[in-house]
Amino acid sequence: MKSDQTIKILFAASEAEPFYKVGGLGDYAGSLPLALKSHFTHNGEQLDMRVVLPLHDPHTISKFQLHKLLDLTIPGKKTENLCRIYFRKYENIPHYFIHQLIPKLESHAVYAPDQYQTAYKFALFSITVVQMLEAMGWRPDLIHTNDWHTALINYLVGKQKPINNKKPKTILTIHNMPFMGYGSEPVYDEFGIQPVSEQAFPSWAKYLPLPMGIAEADQIVAVSPSYAKELTTQNFAYGIEKYFLAHTEKLCGIINGIDYEKWDPAQDPIISSNYSSGNLASRMKNKSKLFAEIGFKIPEKEPLLVVISRLESQKGIDLILDAMSETAGRKWKAVILGSGHHGYEYAFRALERVFPDKIHTVIEYNPQLARKLYAAGDMILMPSLYEPCGLSQMIAMRYGCIPIAHAVGGLKDSIITKPKTKRTGYLFKPATKSAFITCLKKALRDYSDTAAWKKIQSNAMRFDFSWFRSAANYADIYKQLIK
Ligand code: ADP
Repeated sequence: MKSDQTIKILFAASEAEPFYKVGGLGDYAGSLPLALKSHFTHNGEQLDMRVVLPLHDPHTISKFQLHKLLDLTIPGKKTENLCRIYFRKYENIPHYFIHQLIPKLESHAVYAPDQYQTAYKFALFSITVVQMLEAMGWRPDLIHTNDWHTALINYLVGKQKPINNKKPKTILTIHNMPFMGYGSEPVYDEFGIQPVSEQAFPSWAKYLPLPMGIAEADQIVAVSPSYAKELTTQNFAYGIEKYFLAHTEKLCGIINGIDYEKWDPAQDPIISSNYSSGNLASRMKNKSKLFAEIGFKIPEKEPLLVVISRLESQKGIDLILDAMSETAGRKWKAVILGSGHHGYEYAFRALERVFPDKIHTVIEYNPQLARKLYAAGDMILMPSLYEPCGLSQMIAMRYGCIPIAHAVGGLKDSIITKPKTKRTGYLFKPATKSAFITCLKKALRDYSDTAAWKKIQSNAMRFDFSWFRSAANYADIYKQLIK
């Protein structure tokens, strides 16, 4: 690649901070384009990076002062669809927003509960993205999409005929394999999109956007190297493993990073006492403040276990409930922050009623409290059954809160257990109650050795989880594909 050559990339996602954030994908899509831009600038290379998102909610237009760019009509079998494209620069990166006007969006949620409408929105979005590039006369070298919502773009571009022997390469990043875009079949019929004819797929997968995108993408990136390996097995790939096994050359894993400015215990304005790895005594003040706020009695010497999570079975919540009940005779306190499955919400509340001096439950989504828990907690429990990457363990380590996690996916790739002197957390497998409890007991024992624990904390806090490493890996893949 010549150094004077500008690389043109279009990055598509269903959500990206600061415009929309529902989960980890919003963090990722809000951070990676910026990190890539600064990576290229740092290396003296030119990158024309542009981002495209659906406009889920018309309020975004005034909130973020978007400008109208153009209208596009997309024919369907029953309806003539109309999309309006808005634009603004954010952090010097052009952002496009596609607003579905006809048929009118009935929900302003990023992921509406109505499966058909959600499938329709993302199908129309993907088709419009491809049309928009033609209408603007801007031909990216590469299009980078994320998860099922935007995977139809990979499929459509893959099926396009090259112009002058060239067409954009495409990358599809997989953040969550089980969500393949169910309910898309009638929508694709409406738009006259043919199913994928890939022998390695089970028949039910041929009209689903994620497998369709996987078949046509030039590169598939899982959000951690371990998740990439796991995707070649049935337990994690849900029927698509045969395809991955047959195409390991186009599957790789890159672990996500976290935003080091946003997650910094030395600067965090929400926590009561800022601290760094060289000043762990100040960290204790956060625990004292939290204990006072929630009415936990001293002694603070007892380790504080925290759970900051969606309360869904994927997160190993059953294991947490079992482990807390079985180790309740030991010295620890716990704060649970989460919401989700009502059965789990009820179970944690019930556990709190049995152990009111030991367990405190907050059933809500509360980003401020989450920060206070990262700063006050001694251990974060993450026995996830599967975890493609996971951000919470990285944030926790940055804040000196040590993860106790199932050795799976991104947890396995980001938590160091060996050699002992480099330990940043604890891993167990298999995902059983007894393995989890054994691991938790080991961490509780280690906690009582104050000097050893401080070493683990400072190892964790000093480890580099910034986006720059991941951006460098993505940049390498971009260049390899384009050359
Ligand atoms: P996932 O995206 O699968 O939910 P991640 O670990 O990748 O899991 O990201 C979870 C993010 O959501 C973290 O930033 C975590 O702090 C945050 N989070 C999870 N539950 C809550 C909650 N109840 N309140 C505030 N933040 C939460």
